[in-house]
Amino acid sequence: MLDFSSLLLAAALSGTCLSITMFAIWLTAPRAGFVLTVACGILVLVAHVILFWRYTREPDPLLCQIALALLSLGFLIICLSTMQYLGVPDYRRVVLPTLVAMLVCATVTLLGFDGVGFIVTYTTVTALLSAIGAMFWVNGSHDRRILLVVSFLSGTCALSFALCALVLLTKGQWTLATAPDNWAERLNSVVAVACMTGLGALTLSLHHLQAQIELKAETMTDPLTGLMNRRGLTSLYGERTFGPFMSVVMFDLDHFKRTNDIYGHPVGDQVLCRFAAVIKKYARTGVDAFRLGGEEFAIVMSRMTEERAYDFASKIGVAFGTEIVATQHGPLRSTVSGGIGFGAADGSTLHEVLAEADAALYAAKRAGRNCVVSRTGAGKAEPALRSA
Ligand code: GH3
Ligand code: MG
Ligand code: MG
Repeated sequence: MLDFSSLLLAAALSGTCLSITMFAIWLTAPRAGFVLTVACGILVLVAHVILFWRYTREPDPLLCQIALALLSLGFLIICLSTMQYLGVPDYRRVVLPTLVAMLVCATVTLLGFDGVGFIVTYTTVTALLSAIGAMFWVNGSHDRRILLVVSFLSGTCALSFALCALVLLTKGQWTLATAPDNWAERLNSVVAVACMTGLGALTLSLHHLQAQIELKAETMTDPLTGLMNRRGLTSLYGERTFGPFMSVVMFDLDHFKRTNDIYGHPVGDQVLCRFAAVIKKYARTGVDAFRLGGEEFAIVMSRMTEERAYDFASKIGVAFGTEIVATQHGPLRSTVSGGIGFGAADGSTLHEVLAEADAALYAAKRAGRNCVVSRTGAGKAEPALRSA
């Protein structure tokens, strides 16, 4: 059977290896800043374990102070890495209470109540680990099974620290003058190593998952306008059935080749970005925008009647017509044509709706451009707008 000392040294060794692995991974993927933060947090915990091990042999009050401070600091850094990963802002909400707890711990330990110092530190760590589990569960957008394991591991680890505090509390051990050594401490050293190793391994797979998600998002994003591209449209709507309240508008900028020829390609790019900005301004829940390629765009509208879809598309066309791009040859105004395709009561495919929108767009071009065409007769009688 391993003694307490061996358990602590095993914990330090396992933590060091984990930390080195994470540093190496961060070096190959510096954008994953949270991996570096976790590695730093684990390294601080390793320093705590080594000092604590030393303290079990040589009970020096200063050693006790530093070891306890490192324990809180290590878990604080790991909690911050969780916030960094999940994009939870306002680090102060965690940093300030932890610093206050560390200050309280240092004060009571200095006054000779090192047992109280241990209780305060264990309680702080319990709170930090519980926060990590809760944040993952509430904010994590991953597979629920992974989130469940992360929350379970941090919850179990939190519980093992809570038990350490509880044993000291129930025994009324306010003054120890030596390292606490009881069944909860031994259980904690095993549970903490197992849970922290598990959490470390999960951090690596979460990093892997995030890299995959980012790569997928990149392949579905148009770099010029930031809108989703045709691949994004197929990925989001390729398998969907378009019912009567769903529609697709296809937009095509008018005489865009001429714009490029007269004003140059960079100005053409500016016009494309301006149109994307107009679409983004109008985008809201139930409206997704895409750049299909070149000067062709599409928006998919859900939960909208045909009349409202027509109005919506027309508003975008009119708004774009008022945009002015400053160029060397003076102000440039551009226009756009649009065609709408609608879903059917018995369900249509994306392909069918796009074909209808494309035909309507062709009709809009033939009708003189700068207008939106749909199969319905609805719409406002504005000069820029027409219905087929
Ligand atoms: P229409 O009104 O009939 O749509 O005429 P058009 O000139 O807009 O259509 P056409 O298909 O002849 O021209 C599209 C032009 O769009 C040709 C191509 O050079 C330009 N284009 C495609 N992609 C880009 C891009 O990323 N940036 C710029 N500046 N131009 C682009
Ligand atoms: Mg075109
Ligand atoms: Mg065009």
